[in-house]
Amino acid sequence: MKVYGYGKQYLDLSDYLAVLKTLKSDFLTCGPKVKEFEQAICDYTGAKYCVAVSSATAALHLTMLAIGISKGDEVITSPITFLASANCVLYAGGTVKFADIEPETANIDPHEIEKRLKVDKGRTKAIIPVHFAGQSCNMEKIRSLTQKHNLFVIEDAAHAIGSEYKGSKVGSCKYSDMTVFSFHPVKTITTGEGGAITTNNEELYRKLLHLRSHGMYRTQNWEYEMRELGYNYRLTDIQAALGISQLQKLDKFKKRRREIVNFYNENLGLPHLVEKDFSNACFHLYVTLVDNREEFYLKARERGLNLQVHYIPVHTQPYYKNLGFKEGDFPNSEAYYKKCISLPLYPGLKNSDLHEIVKRIKAII
Ligand SMILES: *Cc1c(COP(=O)(O)O)cnc(C)c1O
Repeated sequence: MKVYGYGKQYLDLSDYLAVLKTLKSDFLTCGPKVKEFEQAICDYTGAKYCVAVSSATAALHLTMLAIGISKGDEVITSPITFLASANCVLYAGGTVKFADIEPETANIDPHEIEKRLKVDKGRTKAIIPVHFAGQSCNMEKIRSLTQKHNLFVIEDAAHAIGSEYKGSKVGSCKYSDMTVFSFHPVKTITTGEGGAITTNNEELYRKLLHLRSHGMYRTQNWEYEMRELGYNYRLTDIQAALGISQLQKLDKFKKRRREIVNFYNENLGLPHLVEKDFSNACFHLYVTLVDNREEFYLKARERGLNLQVHYIPVHTQPYYKNLGFKEGDFPNSEAYYKKCISLPLYPGLKNSDLHEIVKRIKAII
């Protein structure tokens, strides 16, 4: 029996050759491929600047440092996300706050952000909206709130490279200060591990560049100065070469992902997240909502479908409970979590695979 996971990278000969060529070149890191990859991401998204880094987690950490998050500062994100969207605030010494989701998209609800801002006593410094499953959040609403309160907006677009909001590419930073992408193999394009930050703000760009590499500034000849505490969060040229090659396939991936989503919508008849009019998503996940999720999960596994749940609400993790959060704090997120399960969605699925997957799912519902 063929076994299907919920996601899988897609690599072909052009990817292998791109990596091989870089392996035979003079630079394995700190070379021309990193700059070329950054420029390709700028060209694709329309952003002015891009900094490629070793993961989206590293990218999120650097965004928090670049905007100066420290003790006493609060940052709001969604409970329905991967841990890193919240952890990055803690790395910088800040305090995480959550705003509940809209049930129909599982994206952060701008009204819930507004409620949070009313009680925060001016401590909120930034919002990290997460474009869940590839669908953009309502960025116009979020931007208008943050302009009113003078806050930074960092888009966690780990799911959303290739997606659009009101005709502009996610990552253009039209409605935000910075946008973060992930190139982990389960995401839409991959570099093995990897991430990137886009921005239109030159000052933030310069800060990110230095923080990526030990806080070092070149002065003259062999001299350099360390002016702040930075990290080694660099991406290698080997990874960048793969990223350039993968990015060239992104629009094809997007088309195939949408075809698969449409196929499931038409052939399964199961409740699923809905796409808003402002969105043109490059779908990362196909989330369906089922009543007896554990039974569905186990029966699917018996039939060769290794599904996954996105996500356990972050505030219910033991570490976050120790920080004072509890079950019941974010009812929409918790209700969503009880039912959500992600079906196989990746460009390598053929039509025959889709028929097979639908047949197996129909046998268990
Ligand atoms: C995957 C993911 C991350 C972290 O990405 P890495 O590149 O693995 O560090 C952050 N946020 C979201 C929403 C993610 O899905």
